[in-house]
Amino acid sequence: MKAWVKALSLLASISNPLLAQPDVQLQGSFSQGSLIRGQTAPGTEVFFNGQPLPVSSDGQFVFGVGRDAPEEHKLTLQAGAEQQVKTLHFKKRQYDIQHVNGVAQKYVTPPDAVTERIRQDNARVRKARETQSDLPFIFDTPKMPAVGRVSGVYGSQRVFNGEPRNPHYGLDIAAPVGAPVIAPLSGTVLLAEDLYYSGLTLIIDHGFGISSTFMHLSKFNVAVGDSVQQGQRIAEVGASGRVTGAHLDWRINWHQERLDPALLPGLVMAE
Ligand SMILES: [Zn+2]
Repeated sequence: MKAWVKALSLLASISNPLLAQPDVQLQGSFSQGSLIRGQTAPGTEVFFNGQPLPVSSDGQFVFGVGRDAPEEHKLTLQAGAEQQVKTLHFKKRQYDIQHVNGVAQKYVTPPDAVTERIRQDNARVRKARETQSDLPFIFDTPKMPAVGRVSGVYGSQRVFNGEPRNPHYGLDIAAPVGAPVIAPLSGTVLLAEDLYYSGLTLIIDHGFGISSTFMHLSKFNVAVGDSVQQGQRIAEVGASGRVTGAHLDWRINWHQERLDPALLPGLVMAE
C-alpha cells in the first residue's frame, strides 16, 4: 500500500492539474530489470514506447524493461481526445561481473550432440512465454517461492577464459532437494518439462504476459493446464540440469523480456 501512496504523490508533483489528462498511477522500482504496474481510468488506451499494452477492464496494466535497457522510455495514455505522454526514467544498475580463467572447454561449449535438443528446449520455452491471457494475478502482492538464502542474483555475469557467458537472469534461492516450491502468485501452468540446461522446469502464467519460471526442480506437483493458487505447493527444489548444487532458480518474464524477480512490487525478500 505504501508504494502506491508514494507513486501517487510523485504523480501529483509532476502532472499539471490545469490540463485534463488521463490519470495514471505507476508502481515499481524504475531501474533496469524492473516490472511496473499501472492503474488508469477504465477505457484508457496505454502505449509503452509506442506499442499498445493490454489494459484490464478496471484500468490495470503492466510492463517491464530488461537488464540493459536504456534510461528513458515513453508511456502514452489516450482517453478519447485527451493524450498524455510521459517520459519514464529507469536507473542504470551495476551488475556483478566475475572473470574465471582456466575453465575446461567442455563446460564453456555444449557438446554437438545436444545442440538440437537445446534449440528445441529454447523454442518450447519461448512459445510458453508468448502466452497472452487476461488472468489478473500479476496485480496481486507476490510471495517468495522458497525459503532459503539468496545465492544468486539477476544480471550477474561470468566471463570464462575471456569469453562472456549469458548473464544470469534468475533469483537463486539455496534450499535442499525436496524443499517445497510455492506459487508466488496464482496462475496457470504453461510448461512442465525436463530441459537440458534448466532440468525440470515449470512455467506459470500470471496474466498480461507475465510468467514465472522455476528451474532445476526435482519434482512437479502440478501439470500443464492446471490452475494454481498463490501459496500452493507446485514443485520441489532439486539439482536437475546443468548445476553444481541444489537450489531454486526463479525467473520473471514479460513475454521474452527477462525481468528481476527481486524487483516485483510488494515482494518481501526474506533475510
Ligand atoms: Zn540460477
